[in-house]
Amino acid sequence: MPSGRHFLQIPGPSNVPDRVLRAMDMPTMDHRGPGFAEVGRAALEGMRWVLGAEGRVVIYPSSGTGAWEAALVNTLSPGDSVLMYETGHFAALWKRLATRLGLNPIFIEGDWRGGADPAAIEARLREDTAHDIKAVCVVHNETSTGAVSPIAQIRKAIDAAGHPALFMVDTISSLASIEYRQDEWGVDVTVAGSQKGLMLPPGMAFNGISEKAIAASQSASLTRSYWAWDEMAGPNETGFFPYTPATNLLYGLSEAIAMLREEGLANVFARHARHAEATRAAVEAWGLEVLCREPAHRSDVLTAVLMPEGYSADNFRAVTLRNYDMSLGNGLSKVSDRVFRIGHLGDFNDLMLCGTLSGVEMGLRDAGVPHRAGGVLAAMDALGRIDAAGRISAQ
Ligand code: PLP
Repeated sequence: MPSGRHFLQIPGPSNVPDRVLRAMDMPTMDHRGPGFAEVGRAALEGMRWVLGAEGRVVIYPSSGTGAWEAALVNTLSPGDSVLMYETGHFAALWKRLATRLGLNPIFIEGDWRGGADPAAIEARLREDTAHDIKAVCVVHNETSTGAVSPIAQIRKAIDAAGHPALFMVDTISSLASIEYRQDEWGVDVTVAGSQKGLMLPPGMAFNGISEKAIAASQSASLTRSYWAWDEMAGPNETGFFPYTPATNLLYGLSEAIAMLREEGLANVFARHARHAEATRAAVEAWGLEVLCREPAHRSDVLTAVLMPEGYSADNFRAVTLRNYDMSLGNGLSKVSDRVFRIGHLGDFNDLMLCGTLSGVEMGLRDAGVPHRAGGVLAAMDALGRIDAAGRISAQ
């Protein structure tokens, strides 16, 4: 084993803070005993706060994929059309899941270099005069490309088209890292996971649900059992679950939410914005290209970097892991071996960022990837110019 701490700089699972690790280091609890209700209630209430949602929240012991499936099977019926947007690998996986469930996804094609385009969504919905499309599904932060989709604008686009479809948003890699407001942005089902901005290990997933989505679930006829929201409703009212919850992850969730409350969500978002800005400064100084072309869509959670033509991103990542014990994200499917991804999310600070970028710069050198030195210096300079609120000073 190498000495020192491993640098886990993939875009999730993210580093789990020591406070959260300590909070989970507890004997397993009787999840049907009297002491559990408070744990369950606190987790559900805390998640409402993180989501910006007053309505129902469901917590599953599952990975994020489970919450994707839950969003669809609870609200839709076999053969229903769903409008999805190809922001990247995860949008494509959600679409594949919809197909396997017997839905009819309509995929707006994208080039994996930006977020979803509200105008394209509006145009497609306007064509659907019979209102066959029952849901619009968008990935907020596309983890495979580092592109953010403008959720509030997409809500406006759905309204401008006068379309009644449900609006479902995957916030698996955005929640608690970049701004998200379920109720204010008129989202009907939020899909979230524990292992990124929430700073927990993998193993829990969430649905935030609007009244409109609950109403839809009453007539939706896709087969569901484990994922059924109505099975959760009764037990959740008193802080319990119909089946065994991930008890120790729930302790961790309460601690993570306490940390987010102490820092304040606005500060958490500004911190992510600042680290993203500094990372992009480093990429620019190296003379490399950020995959997301549209500056306004560039993610504060991760940065996907294009390799120079003819150089293998996976070889560079392997060299960096071997020489510096740092894991970086790989390129997925369409961009396999073409990009590497730097995660700058969750429990993270300036020195961790500088360490990460130093590892990248030394890895580029060791792997013989053409670049200019000085990326880390550029990032340090950027950190000096961006204040804690994310504002960049003039000089
Ligand atoms: N959606 C997004 C945006 C993701 O980043 C991920 C995983 O990284 C998923 C969905 C799938 O979640 P999981 O791997 O937890 O099932």
